[in-house]
Amino acid sequence: MADTLNFDAIVVGGGPSGLASAIIMARAGLKVVLFERGRFAGSKNLFGGVLYTSAIQEILPDFMAKNPPFERPVTEQGYWLLSPASVVRMMHRSEQYKVEPAAAYTGLRARFDEWFARQAVAEGALVIAKTAVIDVLRDNRDRVIGVRTDRPDGDVYAPVTILSEGVNNLLTQKLGLAQGDLPPRLVALSVKEVIGLPQATIEQRFGLTGLKEGVAIDLFGDATLGLPGTAFLYSNKTSISIGVGMLLEMFVEHRLRPHEVLARFKAHPAIRPLLAGGESLEYGAHLIPEFGYDRMPRLYADGVMVAGDAAGMVDAMHREGTNLAMMAGKFAAEAAIEAHSSKDFSARHLQAYRDKLEASFVMKDLKQYRRMTDFLDGTPHFMKTYVDFVNDAAMRYFNAHDMPKRDMEKDIVRSLGKRRSFLGVAQDVMRLMRGMGL
Ligand code: FAD
Repeated sequence: MADTLNFDAIVVGGGPSGLASAIIMARAGLKVVLFERGRFAGSKNLFGGVLYTSAIQEILPDFMAKNPPFERPVTEQGYWLLSPASVVRMMHRSEQYKVEPAAAYTGLRARFDEWFARQAVAEGALVIAKTAVIDVLRDNRDRVIGVRTDRPDGDVYAPVTILSEGVNNLLTQKLGLAQGDLPPRLVALSVKEVIGLPQATIEQRFGLTGLKEGVAIDLFGDATLGLPGTAFLYSNKTSISIGVGMLLEMFVEHRLRPHEVLARFKAHPAIRPLLAGGESLEYGAHLIPEFGYDRMPRLYADGVMVAGDAAGMVDAMHREGTNLAMMAGKFAAEAAIEAHSSKDFSARHLQAYRDKLEASFVMKDLKQYRRMTDFLDGTPHFMKTYVDFVNDAAMRYFNAHDMPKRDMEKDIVRSLGKRRSFLGVAQDVMRLMRGMGL
């Protein structure tokens, strides 16, 4: 066994970020081991359901030839704004979405991550599941030189380790790269259910004409009781992924139970008919890091780098996470490969990882939306006020009222004034623009 304990690189975590690193490093000829605590890669993982092919292609240029377990291409997407009794839909559908490979596909992580892990093995990485890394090993100069697993005699050594351990970044914290537990205002909690339905029923309910079409809908407003948060509804081949997420702080402050929020959302008159007769196949909850660019952990130190959710790399505004995680995993892998070439694993050298991230969309987007969490936190009324207003306005606009249209338009403006003062609206717009980095 002793000769198997030294590797060129160790990866902790078999999610999109860790597996992307393992693939890139193994392809470059490094001896790589990846530890995944779940029964298999993906077995413990949960997300909403949209995978982005631009990032997958960066890792596996010929991914379509490898039969990725996608559900449906996303050929229609957009937002639904829910008030308690109505919905305004803003959807985008285009023939261009049907060109293969599509820019985005719906998917299920237990299948996708398992497939991605098979690609890592095919490139030559050793993927060891059912094994948790419980500590990081350091030498007397505090350089990371390996990890301790929960296996007997489970110490493994390598000059460079990539921590892709997800949002519960306990090892990153242990190393002092991230500070303590995540505060409830900087982490969202999402509950998700996968509901099985016959293919034909899904297609009829969502206006799809076969497996080459699919929808991805993000919902705001009454879906989260008007509180800052989002809900989602994505079509798979023979199931629907549905879920709601809010800052953990909102659940605590409003004494809400996550499963009750999801049950309430499912019972909304615009949602219930879409799910009718469905069978619950999966149910779970997961955290989403919302700490953003300004509160990211330190991304590298001597012999170690942190990537993906462990470093808070999620763009909640555009529901992107897997793609950021994959790109970060790729950049960390490239920095590790360069470190091997120069035999220098010091923090000074691994800074190349951060430089690559900063030059890419990953950090540029995270930087742009760095104030988004503060915006949501500081304007908790935003979703309710404006989503209810838009629904109200639609009700007036689309109906005849036996009054001149000019009066109807004034009525609409007045109904906003009743919800929020002119100054309040101006403040909200300014704050929103700031949150969006405009
Ligand atoms: P993870 O996917 O969390 O993987 C971490 C892995 O490390 C896990 O397999 C875990 O078991 C393992 N692990 C952890 N600790 C250890 C240890 N000590 N030892 C061994 N193994 C360990 N992103 C999108 O792109 N599209 C979406 O539609 C989307 N929707 C989302 C909806 C929800 C409800 C949630 C929660 C997230 C969503 N995201 C979405 C975000 C996306 O899921 C994450 O950003 C992405 O999974 C991060 O990848 P990762 O590899 O960094 O971490």
